[in-house]
Amino acid sequence: MWRASTPDCTAEEVARACVRKVRNDDLRVTLLKSISDFTLNSAAYRASAASSSLHKATAEDYEIVGIADADFHQLYKSRLARPGSPAYQYYERLRTSAAHGLCAYCRYGQAKTLDHFIPKTTIAGLSIEPWNLVPCCHQCNHKLGRNWSDQAHEQMLHPYFAPDLGRWLAAEVHPTRPASVSFQAVPDPTLPDGLRRQVVNQFEALGLAELYAVVSSQELAGLSRRLVSVGDEIDIPSYLDELATLAFCGDLNDRRGVLYEALSQSSWYCDGGFADV
Ligand SMILES: [Zn+2]
Repeated sequence: MWRASTPDCTAEEVARACVRKVRNDDLRVTLLKSISDFTLNSAAYRASAASSSLHKATAEDYEIVGIADADFHQLYKSRLARPGSPAYQYYERLRTSAAHGLCAYCRYGQAKTLDHFIPKTTIAGLSIEPWNLVPCCHQCNHKLGRNWSDQAHEQMLHPYFAPDLGRWLAAEVHPTRPASVSFQAVPDPTLPDGLRRQVVNQFEALGLAELYAVVSSQELAGLSRRLVSVGDEIDIPSYLDELATLAFCGDLNDRRGVLYEALSQSSWYCDGGFADV
């Protein structure tokens, strides 16, 4: 749902690096003869993603004659994703392109791995396609797994092609002891219905409500303790509003910004709910 920096390497560069040190002579020759096919497939993938049509993609669309699914899988596993191989530099370039080193899907976990946006078990021909590889955390990668749907509204929003969604993350303060906050995806009602369903589906598929509630619980406890000690000296809603404004500077859907904003608008919390820590 957040837009990520796009790959700065080409399908040809990645394919050529993966082919180096392939021991099977016939396969190496076939791969070298097929470099232009990797380039053509990459262009087709980008065009399909840009027109939100990836859910219609089939394995046949990205076949390359003479290269089996197992060969594509090995190119990823034993070349691109293997430390020390000539292609590993591209794996690392893609992985470290993540904004602030954070997962492109949850913006919380560290981007320690690459997710195949279309799983390589679904379309093997996209195993080493750079535009199909998204930097993400282990947790999101595990949640996404081999899931793939041919239904548009069940698709994840591709981080390299995500449209500007405006504000979609919302939080609600609960008058519990101590205070608690829950998160929801509330897409802009002016967005097309299908896009709004995608946002809500993706939020649920990645378990972001639970993740953000857990992470924010610790931050909320620290904030509440601070307000107990300085609450008499400051205007609490203004203070929280200022924190929200700062957090929103780089991201309209910053989790902490959404948290501070909801707290600043909760008269229960600002009038003393914070004191139950
Ligand atoms: Zn993640």
